[in-house]
Amino acid sequence: MKRIILKPGKEKKIKHFYPWVFRDEILSQEGEGVIASLYSSDGEFLAKGTYSPHSRIAFRVLSYEDEPIDEGFFRKRFSQALALREGIPSDAYRLAFSESDLLSGLIVDRYAEGFVIQVRSYPMEVLKERVLSALSDFSPRFIYERSDFKGRSEEGLEPFSGLLMGELENPVLIHEREFKFLVDVKGGLKTGFYLDQRDNRAYVAGLLRGGERVLDLFCYTGGFSVYCASRGARVVGVDVNESALELARQNVRLNNLSAEFVRANAFDFLESTNETYDLIIADPPAIAKTKREKESVLWAIWKLAHRSFLKLKRFGRLFICSCTYQISAQEMIRQVRLASTDVRRRILIKEVNLQPQDHPFVPTFPESLYLKCLDAVVID
Ligand code: SAH
Repeated sequence: MKRIILKPGKEKKIKHFYPWVFRDEILSQEGEGVIASLYSSDGEFLAKGTYSPHSRIAFRVLSYEDEPIDEGFFRKRFSQALALREGIPSDAYRLAFSESDLLSGLIVDRYAEGFVIQVRSYPMEVLKERVLSALSDFSPRFIYERSDFKGRSEEGLEPFSGLLMGELENPVLIHEREFKFLVDVKGGLKTGFYLDQRDNRAYVAGLLRGGERVLDLFCYTGGFSVYCASRGARVVGVDVNESALELARQNVRLNNLSAEFVRANAFDFLESTNETYDLIIADPPAIAKTKREKESVLWAIWKLAHRSFLKLKRFGRLFICSCTYQISAQEMIRQVRLASTDVRRRILIKEVNLQPQDHPFVPTFPESLYLKCLDAVVID
């Protein structure tokens, strides 16, 4: 077993529940393996967790108790995580959200009878067998892995995706509230579905009374579109990804609804449409690792808001999202405010929505609060 001793003073953030130790915060280490105990420079036990030999994030907390990280540990974590998710109106939800569930490096999404997992750290890859045994308690029909993202190289891991257990019939049918969705677990974005927008889909649908014109930009497989169509709105969904649009069309049909889907660049569509709308939803992809990427996400928010405010009717709504922790709700509000004054339309922000209960965030770990959505209403 490995023992890691922190530099003096570095124990403070761990005591405040920040779950990562960076390599340059380590004073000394001894022993081998991927499971490690963390101590302060005074020799006080701080946490049990994993050690990554290659990554900048050297240690990740899995427990604040001195306990073995065995199959039983993962069983306990999954049952705690499940208890925290009681009452979710769907058979698809995030069962384990990495650091938020004290399972740093692991994501487990449930899709109906199966699981899709994502392994985000080298030690979690080594511990995968224990994870799979613990998950097999749920008797899943399948366990599929979607670890095909670039960030894995920092951990010294290759991208991987494939079936780990059972049988998978892809796409998978899930039930969210009264709706059905087909989820492409093998080839879809993230692990297949935007589980984190579940409550925002219901929120947005709740704004509609029937007959409104709705534009769902970056619609992916039609999550928001289905909800809005069910309220009697005339919905147009826009995305650049043809296979996502095909699934969106299927999802609308599956719920006996109708909506139109257009393959286009959302920015161009918004500029060229002659239509005005009651509701525009804009849920763009957001990668903001570097300063430059952050600038471009901020610019995209401004641009989307700017163009939307020109196309919204009086009392029309813009529901705009950002899904990167590097951009705060305050920064989004600023971009939307600038856009509104640029086009001289007065807006009010009615709501700021964050992540749903299966994506809880650790208040002392800002990296875990990534999703922010604003509901802006155009007053004049
Ligand atoms: N709102 C969706 C998730 C959006 S994911 C839901 O709740 O399910 C972001 C989507 O934006 C992806 O489907 C991607 O194909 C699409 N996309 C990326 N760049 C785009 C662009 N410039 N114009 C239109 N769609 C784009």
